[in-house]
Amino acid sequence: MTTSSFAAQPAATPRRVVVVGAGIVGLSCATFLRRDGHDVTVVDRLGPGEGTSFGNAGMVSPDTFTPIAMPGMLRKVPKWLSDPLGPLAVRWSYLPQALPWLIRWIRAGRLDRVEELAKALRALHGPAFANYRALLGPDGFSDLIRLRGQLYLWKTDTPSETDRIADRLRREQGVRCEEIGPDEIRQMEPTLAPGFRRGLYLPDNGSTANPHRLCTMLAHNLRGAGGRVLQGSVTDIEMGADGVRRVMTDVGPIDADIVVVAAGAWSVRLTKRFGVRLPLESERGYHVMLPNPGPVPNRSISHRSGSFSISPMEHGLRLAGTVEIAGLDAPPDERRAQILLRQAREALPTLNTEGAQTWMGHRPSFPDSLPVIDRAPGVPGVFFAFGHGHTGLTGAPTTGRVLADLVAGRTPAIDMRPYRANRF
Ligand SMILES: Cc1cc2nc3c(=O)[nH]c(=O)nc-3n(C[C@H](O)[C@H](O)[C@H](O)COP(=O)(O)OP(=O)(O)OC[C@H]3O[C@@H](n4cnc5c(N)ncnc54)[C@H](O)[C@@H]3O)c2cc1C
Repeated sequence: MTTSSFAAQPAATPRRVVVVGAGIVGLSCATFLRRDGHDVTVVDRLGPGEGTSFGNAGMVSPDTFTPIAMPGMLRKVPKWLSDPLGPLAVRWSYLPQALPWLIRWIRAGRLDRVEELAKALRALHGPAFANYRALLGPDGFSDLIRLRGQLYLWKTDTPSETDRIADRLRREQGVRCEEIGPDEIRQMEPTLAPGFRRGLYLPDNGSTANPHRLCTMLAHNLRGAGGRVLQGSVTDIEMGADGVRRVMTDVGPIDADIVVVAAGAWSVRLTKRFGVRLPLESERGYHVMLPNPGPVPNRSISHRSGSFSISPMEHGLRLAGTVEIAGLDAPPDERRAQILLRQAREALPTLNTEGAQTWMGHRPSFPDSLPVIDRAPGVPGVFFAFGHGHTGLTGAPTTGRVLADLVAGRTPAIDMRPYRANRF
């Protein structure tokens, strides 16, 4: 592993900071906080990057910023739900718990709201590569981040209402992109089967070679810079008269002045003790990893008609996607991973699926697709950085930078109002 050239700068007021969660968000926060000179400890019950950040599709997408709920989608939902193997599934036994979240999700799809949300996502995603470069250093960046663009593909000739809105938002933001037809699709990606009617090439998006190694490298660099990464389950955050006193874990207490909750989909289990009610839900997603796939696409592909992605990685080809609303505790439904495999075989006829490994993870999602990045309302010393949903790999590095600004009392480079904890 290479170590990024980062030296901790003395903070105006160095504090003992505990970051709960060693996913891509917690590690990004911890790295920038350490660079400010704080005494930083990251705690996770798993190893670094072994939660949701382990298994994502690896797409780093500064030029992708539409929220998940969009106008026109409501019409598709009944069709998706009636197909147990469709791109969206709700386990009926979990529906009563999920219903308030689903209603908020539908409301977030109003056009005027979508425009605001897209601006806020753009602010978070736009600097993704610049902030990954700052986190990883030049060697780590070129080792782990691939600047090869992304290709979106459709099997239909006519754009949907959702596609048209996304097109307009991209134009308004001056995103570089190229619409391509069936022949150009085959030229760019000869491994694909015929049948894709439309493509959109986004040259300024990219991907990581390996989302898990990205996290382990950040953890390694953090240790090298004097930070700590511990394995333990956080059970409580103990408050004193003036603020945080210590973080309680199953391997002992850790004294702290500042706590950053970056525990992904599990975050509200810790934050509810502060009386803050946040509508965080797990949008469970699946992947299939193919270690010896044979010829693979040159870049990450978002199969828009199948609602899944195909991502070449250093250790094989990853098929990832689907949304299942079933809470944090239900066991995975293997059939959802099999849908990915079936669709990928159609898209890539020469695919070798031997040795396929399946995985399920929890996207930490708010109904409006934005994370919470904020001071905990009324709780001195506690900060929130969670809820990055479908795009946490993209939003994490900027989150880390602005969270360190909030802790330091600096004004972040982006308007933080859209990510407030009290917006719900
Ligand atoms: C199938 C799929 C595909 C995706 N594809 C993409 C993509 O291509 N691009 C993109 O930008 N995003 C993608 N995402 C989203 C992205 O992976 C997530 O938004 C991101 O990983 C969330 O990071 P996190 O650090 O918040 O959460 P996590 O990685 O889940 O980290 C949270 C950590 O907190 C720990 N934790 C929780 N509670 C406690 C506790 N009490 N004590 C100690 N530790 C605790 C957990 O063990 C976990 O490691 C995808 C997600 C999925 C599921």
